[in-house]
Amino acid sequence: MSATIIDGKEVAARVRAEVARDVVAFRDRTGKAPGLATILVGDDSASAVYVANKRKACAEAGIVDFHRHLPGDASQDDVAALIEDCNGNPEVSGILLQLPVPKGLNGKELTALIEADKDVDGLTHVSAGRLAQGAPGLRPCTPLGVIELLDAYSVALEGAETVVVGRSDLVGKPVAFLLLERNATVTMCHSRTRDLAGVCSRADVLVAAIGRAEMIGAEFVKPGAAVIDVGINRTDGGLKGDVQFDAVAAEAGWITPVPGGVGPMTIAMLLRNTVTAASLQAGAR
Ligand code: NAP
Repeated sequence: MSATIIDGKEVAARVRAEVARDVVAFRDRTGKAPGLATILVGDDSASAVYVANKRKACAEAGIVDFHRHLPGDASQDDVAALIEDCNGNPEVSGILLQLPVPKGLNGKELTALIEADKDVDGLTHVSAGRLAQGAPGLRPCTPLGVIELLDAYSVALEGAETVVVGRSDLVGKPVAFLLLERNATVTMCHSRTRDLAGVCSRADVLVAAIGRAEMIGAEFVKPGAAVIDVGINRTDGGLKGDVQFDAVAAEAGWITPVPGGVGPMTIAMLLRNTVTAASLQAGAR
């Protein structure tokens, strides 16, 4: 193996420690701590675990917990009213609606109701528009984590050939815009891309956000490239990324493992976004 392993646990721990210090500084400046409202609708066990992890990380960073849990039979209007309540509450800096919401509710429409300056998931139309136009605002957490990892290992982005495989609103598109913001040359690939391996093998930085276990082999990777594996795939052989780790690590310059790469960054960046949101609102008043 020749690649440097990008240690997401270590970088995430550093970001979380920085956020804890920023929370203290914010409280000293404004007299109150940032607050996060996580909204969980229903009793999906995976969602409950995700929300519990986010709340625990918030508490550790000194962020105030405004968690709200609605029953699975809550109506679209019930959830909308709760979001509006959080939008209007000056103690709530950030709002996170845990997705997916139960069948019968429209998660996209509900997400769109979140005030842009409180949109710590960065998923509203306004946040996406701000990102696309390079305006200040809150960016999606996992894509921010990808950039944070590249920066932590001093991977050059300006002028670099970067290829993003996957074009979801959650990961692929925002990663591409963040890379563009850093003056990288960006190619986006998806299920209709011709000669995917040929396109990927031009990349100095390759980001895989596909959701297909171990699809990216060594033939997709330019020797010395940085390979960021966003994929999380549950298989009979355990948790796998989108990248064939051993084969690609033999070619790449840097590589993220799964687990322990991008995964830990998502919550760390959520915490940072909550402090950013609090600062945006404090600045607006
Ligand atoms: P998604 O919405 O399903 O999007 C997958 C993308 O991959 C689509 O754009 C799709 O292309 C493309 N794709 C699928 N098969 C392909 C193929 N054979 N060749 C080329 N492109 C192909 O998934 P997502 O939400 O972006 O998530 C992607 C992965 O990241 C998943 O494994 C997810 O679990 C993981 N994830 C991890 C984190 C984290 O915290 N680490 C956070 C979010 C997501 P089309 O658009 O043409 O269909």
